[in-house]
Amino acid sequence: MATAYVGIGSNLGEPRRQIEAALDELDRVPRTRVARRSSLYRSAPAGHADQPDFLNAVARLETGLDAEALLGELQAIEQRHGRERSFANAPRTLDLDLLLHEAGAAGTPRLTLPHPRMHERAFVLAPLAEIAPDAEVPGHGRAVELLARCAGQHVARIA
Ligand code: AMP
Repeated sequence: MATAYVGIGSNLGEPRRQIEAALDELDRVPRTRVARRSSLYRSAPAGHADQPDFLNAVARLETGLDAEALLGELQAIEQRHGRERSFANAPRTLDLDLLLHEAGAAGTPRLTLPHPRMHERAFVLAPLAEIAPDAEVPGHGRAVELLARCAGQHVARIA
């Protein structure tokens, strides 16, 4: 079994319910269970500002799937939540990002690991640091230290 971390975000269609449902679905992925989940966090939208705030969380998975197979499962869950890929940083009912996988780094057309923007996003680093204070983002450093560099980004723990 490998440890993997997944970032979860939603800003449409009852975000709290979307995130709770996604956690249940992650727990039902074959050969995979949710070992730990963070609190919920509220964050201002990145990029395209004229949209609702996001709710975010991070889950730690124990999985027998490799990173590519796990990404396929995440995308299937996104599709079931009716996500439409309209434009970059558009509002979304559910966004699942594969942040880290114990197997290490990947660089294929479909999958980049660690997730290429996670080290500069407080809405990923705050929930990650909550459940994995010693987490390392390969090539960038410890989550808690990276989070300290995101001081200008507003993220509030809400539950
Ligand atoms: P986004 O719209 O930000 O969710 O990006 C989705 C696209 O990013 C898909 O085409 C994925 O194949 C690709 N991608 C590359 N690396 C990752 C990753 N670590 N986690 C999730 N999606 C990824």
